[in-house]
Amino acid sequence: MRPEALFEYFADVERLPGIGKRNRLALERLCGSRLVDLLLHLPTGLVDRRYRPKLAAAAPGGIVTVAVTVDEHMVPKNRRMPYKVLCHDDTDELTLAFFNPRTDWLQRQLPVGKQRIISGKLEDYQGKLQITHPDYMVDPDDAAEMPDLETIYPLTAGLSGKVLRKAAHAALEMVPHLPEWHDPALVKRDKMPDFKSAISAVHQPSSFDDLSPSSPARRRLACDELLATQLALAIVRDRTRRKRGRSLVGSGVMVEKILKALPYQLTGDQQTAVREIVADLKNEKAMLRLMQGDVGSGKTVVALLAVAAAVEAGVQTALLAPTEILAHQHLDTIAPLAEQIGLRVALLTGRNKGKPRTALLEALAKGEIDLLIGTHAIIQDDVAFKDLGFAIIDEQHRFGVQQRLALANKGAHGVDVLGMTATPIPRTLTLTAYGDMDVSLIREKPPGRKPVDTRVVSLDRLSDVVAGLERAIHSGARAYWVCPLVEESELLDLAAAEERYGTLKHMFGDRVGLVHGKMKGAEKDAVMAKFQAGEISILVSTTVIEVGVNVPEATIMVIEHAERFGLAQLHQLRGRVGRGDAKSSCILLRTNDVGEVARARLKIMRETEDGFLIAEEDLRLRGGGEVLGTKQSGLPEFKLVDFGDHADLIELARDDARMIVAKDPDLQSERGGALRHLLYLFERDEGVRLMQSG
Ligand code: ADP
Ligand code: MG
Repeated sequence: MRPEALFEYFADVERLPGIGKRNRLALERLCGSRLVDLLLHLPTGLVDRRYRPKLAAAAPGGIVTVAVTVDEHMVPKNRRMPYKVLCHDDTDELTLAFFNPRTDWLQRQLPVGKQRIISGKLEDYQGKLQITHPDYMVDPDDAAEMPDLETIYPLTAGLSGKVLRKAAHAALEMVPHLPEWHDPALVKRDKMPDFKSAISAVHQPSSFDDLSPSSPARRRLACDELLATQLALAIVRDRTRRKRGRSLVGSGVMVEKILKALPYQLTGDQQTAVREIVADLKNEKAMLRLMQGDVGSGKTVVALLAVAAAVEAGVQTALLAPTEILAHQHLDTIAPLAEQIGLRVALLTGRNKGKPRTALLEALAKGEIDLLIGTHAIIQDDVAFKDLGFAIIDEQHRFGVQQRLALANKGAHGVDVLGMTATPIPRTLTLTAYGDMDVSLIREKPPGRKPVDTRVVSLDRLSDVVAGLERAIHSGARAYWVCPLVEESELLDLAAAEERYGTLKHMFGDRVGLVHGKMKGAEKDAVMAKFQAGEISILVSTTVIEVGVNVPEATIMVIEHAERFGLAQLHQLRGRVGRGDAKSSCILLRTNDVGEVARARLKIMRETEDGFLIAEEDLRLRGGGEVLGTKQSGLPEFKLVDFGDHADLIELARDDARMIVAKDPDLQSERGGALRHLLYLFERDEGVRLMQSG
């Protein structure tokens, strides 16, 4: 049950003055239709109306507030001309201009001969002072109606700032103060106002400082949102880990065999990751670990070693991949080694049907399969293991919590879970997204990697690029050609890719193939297989082709309209080349009129191949807000956190959340009760539900 004190926070905005059906709909579109949504929709700026000069001294270009007398209304000769009202003070004249006004209303607002206080942006129009559509025109007796400082909100069509402001102020009147959920020491250290005072300060600021991300109010709200997220993660983590009841310790025989069979030595980071994972398997609590490493950093072999360690200890294992292509690829990499050491591997995807599938499931249930590799098909209800003890989830952000839990629930005695991701994200963001997981980082690349020669080339020189490609293809090279994202629309993407495919086909004939997101799995795989086998030399694709696709012979990556891609994406795409012994290149084709940020992105791509560095730069270039929209990276969305200014609070929140759960796992203490308010307020109450279900 939601705590009673939050009742008003979740009331409908329709109860507020000025919010009827229409405004409610607009609000719902903008931020949500409950008071809490409105209150967490923060203003992004302020208008200062305190500048009150005499007209002769007023500087055009900014907001002024002036006291004038109305002289004359001038009706325009035609409708394209503005309606003008002439005014004066004792130093100069001022024109008020209105396009398509309601004239009767204007005549009532600005009666000739009366005094008015006018506030708005002052312009110099043909040598005369003018304000077009003033923000305020009030009787001096009602001057109090006009605020000195006025908040500016992000808006949507059909909703005015005035309405929003009034609604926010009315909402503040309605909602109560809430019990303090933060650590008293932190409250004291940061001079934190309480939650309600903090939202009040932001919606009714008394200075520009109140809106700055470093103000005590803004920092408090950021802390609130971060702690709510981290606490929910920590509760889930605690519940998952508590279920676990056994420690997995193997003989080390299989692991030794694999290490002997490998034609190379593990890098230091790989060794560390293996050690961390083996220690987690041994621990009686369930493993919740994320292995983060760039494309090609050698995660797969670490995963295999982890599987071997678990199998030695007598349990079955699973490797879940987001797509068929990736599942197949894992099988291809793992199968040869597995055979040498006697590890029984099988593949299960949506394409296994009928008798073979039944046979496979029988073998699985009897414990005759040690490692099941597959797509989401392995989560289906009728897939039963004899004893699943360890599961790896590749590209883990592409699966939801539900799917992860479903896989973990296939083990009767709890399942150790290892996530893998090739999307390098900055450390601070790792905490926000995966605060519940321990992290193994593989930063070091296997030795002998040749850097990818990266060039930024104008699209004007497309024909040179194609000519160069032709020479390379003739001497046996293989190339990817990635077509741009067109306004997030897959259909338009496809059109662009098909057009490029057409022109390249014209030149290269059967040596060109096309893959895109609308193709069936089997079709896609067939084209990929041809490219892998070298029957196709150029693979044209939309961005849908898979991150982990491994064709070591491919040495050229062309990315068309590279300026439209994010840094992380460019980095992932480039990661597909430079995997073999031959020297690779990446050509970033761009238009001529690229913006400053896009230019900076392309420059970084030229300068480094370090995914973590690129991720940090990406965060810096995008600033706080936008990172949050990156759904595909699996990051949670934040309304109140500015990743530039509040970075120091992220770790603090994570540590605090873990400490809370260690001391008071069921949130029974007084602070625990306050924290329940926090979880509900930010709708991170899955945590609470888990607590209730045990
Ligand atoms: P990831 O899964 O992280 O993208 P992979 O595991 O596919 O990377 O490894 C990429 C390539 O590097 C594979 O061909 C693998 O055999 C090779 N490799 C992995 N570890 C090492 C190492 N320590 N030394 C040399 N080559 C390695
Ligand atoms: Mg891989």
